Amino acid sequence: MKKNLRKIFAAEREPAKTTLKTRMVSSYYGEDTFSIKVMKAKLPGDVFKKLKKIINEGEKLDLDTANAVAHAMKEWSIEKGATHYCHWFQPLTGTTAEKHDSFADPVDTGESIERFSGKQLMQGEPDASSFPSGGLRATFEARGYTAWDLTSPAFVIRNGNCVTLCIPTAFISYTGEVLDSKTPLLRSIKAIDKSSKRLLNILGNKTVKKVIATIGPEQEYFLIDKDYYYKRQDLVLANRTLIGSAPAKGQQLEDQYFGPIKDRVISFMADVEEELFRLGVPAKTRHNEVAPSQFEIAPVFEEANIAVDHNHLVMETLRRTAREHNLAALLHEKPFAEVNGSGKHLNWSLSDDDGNNLLNPGNTPNQNVQFLLFLTAVIRAVYIHADLLRSTVAFAGNDHRLGANEAPPAILSIFLGDQLFKIMSDIEKGAITSETDKEFIDFGVSTLPLLLKDNTDRNRTSPFAFTGNKFEFRAVGSSQSISWPSTVLNLIITESIDFVADALEKKGGDIKKTAFEVIKEVLKDSKKVLFNDNGYTKEWEDEAAKRGLPNYKTTPEAIKVLADDKSKKLFAKYGILSEVEVVSRYNIFVERYIKEMEIEALTLYGMILNNIIPAGLEYQGRIAKSIEATEKVLGSSPDITIQKELLKKICALISSLSKAADELITLKNKANSSHDEQAVSEFYCKNVKAKMVEIRGYADDLEKIVDDQMWPLPKYWEMLFIS
Ligand code: ADP
Ligand code: MG
Repeated sequence: MKKNLRKIFAAEREPAKTTLKTRMVSSYYGEDTFSIKVMKAKLPGDVFKKLKKIINEGEKLDLDTANAVAHAMKEWSIEKGATHYCHWFQPLTGTTAEKHDSFADPVDTGESIERFSGKQLMQGEPDASSFPSGGLRATFEARGYTAWDLTSPAFVIRNGNCVTLCIPTAFISYTGEVLDSKTPLLRSIKAIDKSSKRLLNILGNKTVKKVIATIGPEQEYFLIDKDYYYKRQDLVLANRTLIGSAPAKGQQLEDQYFGPIKDRVISFMADVEEELFRLGVPAKTRHNEVAPSQFEIAPVFEEANIAVDHNHLVMETLRRTAREHNLAALLHEKPFAEVNGSGKHLNWSLSDDDGNNLLNPGNTPNQNVQFLLFLTAVIRAVYIHADLLRSTVAFAGNDHRLGANEAPPAILSIFLGDQLFKIMSDIEKGAITSETDKEFIDFGVSTLPLLLKDNTDRNRTSPFAFTGNKFEFRAVGSSQSISWPSTVLNLIITESIDFVADALEKKGGDIKKTAFEVIKEVLKDSKKVLFNDNGYTKEWEDEAAKRGLPNYKTTPEAIKVLADDKSKKLFAKYGILSEVEVVSRYNIFVERYIKEMEIEALTLYGMILNNIIPAGLEYQGRIAKSIEATEKVLGSSPDITIQKELLKKICALISSLSKAADELITLKNKANSSHDEQAVSEFYCKNVKAKMVEIRGYADDLEKIVDDQMWPLPKYWEMLFIS
């Protein structure tokens, strides 16, 4: 059945001998983006000036400027081979969407000319009825608009035999409801700019023009051979293996993390990076991750909106380039049971228009009032809105990862490191701390340099860790769009910055003295969210419960908070989403959870009936025949008992599988019979999922005893170690 797959791999999957990449990145970096540099070169001087002002100061775009930009964009992209343009947007499916139109415009004379107008650049009109709206729209209400987001540069994408001009856009309905993830993000970016400037003003900084939320997402992923991928229905349809027994060797030797990168993998990485560099995505870091066949790519941080767009391009480029290399890139949070899953650490900070990081503690953090106030605002935000923040990383895939001893638990706490923790605790107690100067680390070898110690050590078990001059939100899943978690982070911190600003204004007086009073007051409750120790332990779970910190372990529990009054009011207060729009997001998340669980259940059912039971029966038949033949020759002798036991074991497993598979379908149907989607999702989470785990147990036991040549699916050890 396997047709000597492994031999084929050994012979044919040698890394392609590609030419050495010696071209300097600086010679082509950003060449596929319609960047500020390109605009300056291609646009008439006055138009360029006007456009820059519109981008920087958020003014409205006029048609004349749009026409001039559209013309330049068309000429530029046609030079690169583009035949089509598309509005590239982010509906609530979690991925991107695009509808292509040709530049070709047939005219009366039977010819065709290439055209692209300012109006076409500014606005598109895709049918909105087939995108998730969470009950905001009925299917007959089809009109949707996409509007050009000037703050994210247009780019060309090359795939197959086509080059397409992509224009980043926001997506709303005919009646103005928000149908995408970009619009609220842009609004949250504005909100945090406003509240941060307000706080800086209070602190005496009257010249700051802009405060920017910065984001750097570290993307983890797995790579396996494409042939293996297409032999597994579960990977193709559900993005993770639903069955498969763990190999003897996993990650226990810890030899994979940062290990030397295999030829085939590094060739893939280099092609990914080249494409990203051309798109102006600053793909800086690459390395092997903890699990076998797991890797990471991390860019240099960027302004939040661009970072989000770029992360979508990273995910898409990983998938596309993998196919070209006969590989499959798996972005699911837990493609393989019992080895580490994949996350996407979202590094977040604030910076002013001069590039000063507002979360940089400096050499004397204990005296750095500005830093301490922003830090306090973040602590308060995560404390007050822990449940809301938790909900942004709640979906079926991430449920397998959070709290599974490899990723942060579902309890949101903050790691500050010893020094900052002491400073904050001292302030809270009303004491003055002397924790200031940075220390040095000495290797004790004279030829090695003295290293300046960071203000904080690392803590891999914390879901929200301060890492020197930024926070790292580590609970985000590898496959998800970072737009929504980023939006909510911006929103809750905006509200806390305003809270701090209100308190400072109300108290008045000497700003430094007042600042310490405000910090002290805020920390009184908020300090409960601070936790520096091991977040993976049971003790922490108990302690967190005592502190009253929420601990929502599954998606159905975690997403409910979105429909709460508290959340609705918060989004509405800052004009990020209306109350109905917030509820619609909740609806979309529940529906998505149910649909994904249903796909998993049906896929597993199909595999059990079509792959696993037939393989079991085949082996069962062979043993039965062998017993019969042996008995014919030897007569009934005690030596045959072992074969008979094996046969019985296989029969029992097949019958358990068959019974449990039927029960799975019964449960699935029962789940779907309710009209209350929250109840449906909870039923799936509790009952359907448990049945799937039970089935997996039988299938994995069978895998361990059936003849390897008869097993119809690529096994874990093959997928994880042969590449
Ligand atoms: P590690 O894995 O050790 O945490 P990496 O170098 O892999 O570190 O990733 C750190 C990420 O944090 C990078 O993507 C980096 O660009 C990002 N980052 C650094 N400074 C900031 C900042 N001020 N704001 C947002 N992200 C940042
Ligand atoms: Mg990290």
